[in-house]
Amino acid sequence: MRLLVIEDEARIARQIQSGLQEAGFEVEIAATGEAGLVSVLSGNFDGLIVDVMLPGFSGFELVRALRERGLKVPVLFLSARDSTADRVRGLEEGGDDYLVKPFAFPELLARIRALLRRAVPSGEALPASQIRIADLVWEPDQRRITRSGKRIDLTPKEYALAALLLQHHGEVVGRLQIARHVWELEFEPAGNTVDVQLRRLRAKLDDPFEIKLVHTLRGVGYVLEARGVASAPA
Ligand code: CA
Repeated sequence: MRLLVIEDEARIARQIQSGLQEAGFEVEIAATGEAGLVSVLSGNFDGLIVDVMLPGFSGFELVRALRERGLKVPVLFLSARDSTADRVRGLEEGGDDYLVKPFAFPELLARIRALLRRAVPSGEALPASQIRIADLVWEPDQRRITRSGKRIDLTPKEYALAALLLQHHGEVVGRLQIARHVWELEFEPAGNTVDVQLRRLRAKLDDPFEIKLVHTLRGVGYVLEARGVASAPA
């Protein structure tokens, strides 16, 4: 499922992007109404998250332009404006839902899921809201990981690393990929930063439990998988 976030505040756009990616969506960002329009017309998106106050033309104008072209892609408006008139206008301009900033991320995710469930023809699956690997259960919407029913308390960086490995479970995740996701770096951090972070995660996620899930492929990266045990059905 591909989503486009049209938001001029880079920090908010990145937060939404990484949260949605952790929940299993593919996410692109556009920073202006013009860029958003170009992306929507050229890309194949299943849903849009559109900030109302954008440089150039507004989110309302953007969505009106899309609807005039006959595009039915579902739209969730984001806005700091909380008047009833604005909400009504958002829906009249062709939006499907409206969320007021500041918002809690789980609410954004829940609304996006609801929007896509209504809009997407049945049969095309949304990313799972729960992933099970052996005795581990990951609920991305709640940012919760449990093992054998016990909640694992993680720092934000540990959680980001765990989510990355879980998203790609069964695949090798490279050190650069980890650096990008956890520290937003375009290079591998110096020294043993990645290994230290991995060790911290393992101490909480693996060490107390019999089945080890995080495995090292020396010189390549890491893989999260249950080896030699059948995964419980999701
Ligand atoms: Ca804005």
